[in-house]
Amino acid sequence: MSIYDQVWDVVVIGGGAAGLLAATSAADRGRNVLLLEKNRKLGVKILMSGGTRCNITHDCGPKEIAAAIGENGRFLYPALGTLPPCQVIQMIESCNVPTKIETTGKIFPASDRALDVRDALVSLAESAGAHLKPLHPVTQITSDGTSFKIETDQGDVNARRVILTTGGKSYPGCGTTGDGYTWAGQFGHTIVPPVAALTPIRTTDAWPRELSGMTIAKAGVSIADPVGERPNQPAKILDHCNDSMLFTHFGFSGPAVLNVSRTVNLHDSPNRLQLNLDFVCDQTPDQFRSTFQDHLIANGKSSIGNLLMDYVPRRLVHCLLDRSGVIPATRAAELNREQANRLMSELKQASFPISGTLGFEKAEVTAGGIAVDEIDPKTMESKLCPGLFLAGEVINIDGPIGGYNFQAAFSTGWLAGQHA
Ligand SMILES: Cc1cc2nc3c(=O)[nH]c(=O)nc-3n(C[C@H](O)[C@H](O)[C@H](O)COP(=O)(O)OP(=O)(O)OC[C@H]3O[C@@H](n4cnc5c(N)ncnc54)[C@H](O)[C@@H]3O)c2cc1C
Repeated sequence: MSIYDQVWDVVVIGGGAAGLLAATSAADRGRNVLLLEKNRKLGVKILMSGGTRCNITHDCGPKEIAAAIGENGRFLYPALGTLPPCQVIQMIESCNVPTKIETTGKIFPASDRALDVRDALVSLAESAGAHLKPLHPVTQITSDGTSFKIETDQGDVNARRVILTTGGKSYPGCGTTGDGYTWAGQFGHTIVPPVAALTPIRTTDAWPRELSGMTIAKAGVSIADPVGERPNQPAKILDHCNDSMLFTHFGFSGPAVLNVSRTVNLHDSPNRLQLNLDFVCDQTPDQFRSTFQDHLIANGKSSIGNLLMDYVPRRLVHCLLDRSGVIPATRAAELNREQANRLMSELKQASFPISGTLGFEKAEVTAGGIAVDEIDPKTMESKLCPGLFLAGEVINIDGPIGGYNFQAAFSTGWLAGQHA
């Protein structure tokens, strides 16, 4: 019998992290499940995730995942309780894909191959009995109140329940073009305006370009609004993250930068914002002032060029000296107070004008989406359209770098599959 000649118990739309888990979970319960995916490959974002290593989840419990997600994290409690991080790991390891925990708490496959994770999730869905159909883009969903008609460019499919896992709008080249928002909107759902999150940040400053490709293992990255509420007021810090960062030909990337990017995208006038870099973020400004001055005194005969290499890599030293107008060969003891102050300021708070972000094209996630208060958190069923279930990034949930986004997608997908 063709997929078009029967009424499926459950049709899952979208074969990413949430969709694959939803299909497995529903099929495990004996439901007759069909998954429709637009792309030729299933789980495209899993394949490209974590620099093709796939940061599967985080080494923590449900509470910490919810806390990292932030405002809407509480909505995830039932889903995370049903499928916590440790069970995701068990599932993946049950497919002979061992995992490892890195010092940051991020969990990866031991092989560092995202492909292994994607294949494990596909094999779990297939073993549970779900029918997986790539190259089946859905073009419309309608309901007569008791069942759903799902239109594809190859024919119509009928289902008693639908699980919508079409993801957000980020990396549209991967198939995620926000289709689910349109259908959810047709069923009466509110769509919190989607905004690109976890996306690289641009600057007009030429300096980062010279350092393109350089990673700083730990930097403090903050987004500052220089327009204070009163004249002469210091810039207001809108967001901050300490983590690794990367200089690129257009500006900045890496975890710390990606984590603060949603603040730029949500701002009314992003181009008036500044990105500040703190290369000694383990020290408070007072601690740094004192240790730096001690360092200068203790190494008075060293060139400042050599001395700064105790703080940052050589290529960056040259840029910092250039920005401060200090000649590299200057001996530490010969620095005047103004030069020392300029150097401290460059090390502690190098400031760059922001000229936007790379937007949805290069965003790892979408903030915004289907409003969570219109979804039952215990089942993931729509409160407005019985039989419609919503899971993964299509709903208004997004988290920072660290495996939190996959965990949210896995848990909500699994819970939806348990109830559809
Ligand atoms: C470059 C990159 C790296 C990332 N790295 C990580 C990481 O290491 N760890 C982490 O936790 N998160 C990471 N993320 C985020 C993570 O990939 C997402 O949060 C997660 O994939 C969301 O899962 P989902 O199933 O909801 O949506 P998606 O994985 O986006 O899946 C949605 C699926 O629906 C399909 N679809 C859309 N419209 C239709 C339609 N009309 N018909 C049929 N199918 C359709 C899409 O083709 C897609 O396959 C990364 C994201 C990117 C872009």
